[in-house]
Amino acid sequence: MNHKAGFVNIIGLPNVGKSTLMNALIGERLSIISPKAQTTRYRIQGMVNGADYQIVFSDTPGFINQPAYKLQASMNEFVDEALEDADLIVLVTDKFQKEEEEAHLVEWMGKTEQVTMVLINKMDLYQPGELEELTKKWKRKLPLAQVMPVSASSGINSMKLIKKMVELLPESPPYYDKEQLTDRNTRFFVSEIVREKIFLNYSAEIPYSCQVEVEKYEEGDKLDRIRCIIYIERESQKIILIGKNGEALKKVGIEARKAIEDLVQKQVHLELFVKVKDKWRNDPLSLKKFGYGNK
Ligand code: GDP
Ligand code: MG
Repeated sequence: MNHKAGFVNIIGLPNVGKSTLMNALIGERLSIISPKAQTTRYRIQGMVNGADYQIVFSDTPGFINQPAYKLQASMNEFVDEALEDADLIVLVTDKFQKEEEEAHLVEWMGKTEQVTMVLINKMDLYQPGELEELTKKWKRKLPLAQVMPVSASSGINSMKLIKKMVELLPESPPYYDKEQLTDRNTRFFVSEIVREKIFLNYSAEIPYSCQVEVEKYEEGDKLDRIRCIIYIERESQKIILIGKNGEALKKVGIEARKAIEDLVQKQVHLELFVKVKDKWRNDPLSLKKFGYGNK
């Protein structure tokens, strides 16, 4: 079989079990997990890799977590994005959902040209016959979608589900290096974000002379504390990087912090330190000492 790969976008109202499902799919497979990676294309939440496939899971945070009325208002923005980005759109639902609250999602699923799937979750809670009823209803609502019952919390059918998703994905080489990704954790993506912001804020010489290292990553329930070292080659570049009164670096810090908060879905305290690389052992000057501590 040729290699299959694609982006799977999981949508659904709150509490239907999206997170549980994602964890079940990713955790059980124990393949490669990218903890909420950020790419330009996507907010990756996790991946499942096999020898001949790669599924990249993501969600549309604003979309799923909004109440229906808000969802209606802001839907168009998400629709376009999701239409472009996903190879497969998976709607998660369960028997407790009110039809009118799901109406927008259903309407949207009906219009999209992407491959769609409806997962009726919490099958462990259904009375005999109930599931069949619901399956029929969904097949009627969305005739083009694959409809499958699952139980995210008990893991039933998750293998079958992965197999089905792979079937529905296009033939494609993997988007991300399967081996390398095992080593790439949040730290990696944090350093990439800082690097990206440096690229966006300075002209050519500076970005190419920079190396970003996450020196400290302290995870908290509500707040992650991160310290990054930006290594630079020359003292003169350091001056440019920091900018007048630290303004330039401050801007990088603010932009990076926002992006990281987006990535980890938590508040972030970010400190950026600049060190000149060839001297830094003897001269561990930190930005903070100069009063450029950055939030
Ligand atoms: P999300 O808001 O869509 O991400 O939903 P969550 O994954 O946080 O799940 C919401 C609640 O549903 C949690 O209490 C889960 O434990 C529960 N849940 C998820 N999947 C199942 C399932 O298959 N069966 C049962 N009985 N409960 C489930
Ligand atoms: Mg959730």
